[in-house]
Amino acid sequence: MKAHPNGGTDLVQDGKLTGATDTDYFYFFCPKCPDKHIMRMLDYVVREERDDNPYNDKFKKKAKKGFTLAFQIYCEKCKHTDGVRLSNICWQGGTHDEVLHRGGNKD
Ligand SMILES: [Zn+2]
Repeated sequence: MKAHPNGGTDLVQDGKLTGATDTDYFYFFCPKCPDKHIMRMLDYVVREERDDNPYNDKFKKKAKKGFTLAFQIYCEKCKHTDGVRLSNICWQGGTHDEVLHRGGNKD
């Protein structure tokens, strides 16, 4: 299985990792198991944190800072381990299809 620089494998690329909330907690679903099996988050690191945001000049509402959090996610059922990032130092506008069509956000 090919690992990417961000720690995420091919199984989480191109829209294949999905999830949902219950109340306001968000859960990632295992990309290998059926029936939206919930993955555990085993660890996270702050990959980047900065006082500015590179996209603030493109939007009316300004982000307070820039950040990237990287999570290690794990499926207890099938033992699959993967990585996913949450970041506002990447393009966050338009539609998901448009981002995928552009090849997605890179490092
Ligand atoms: Zn699984």
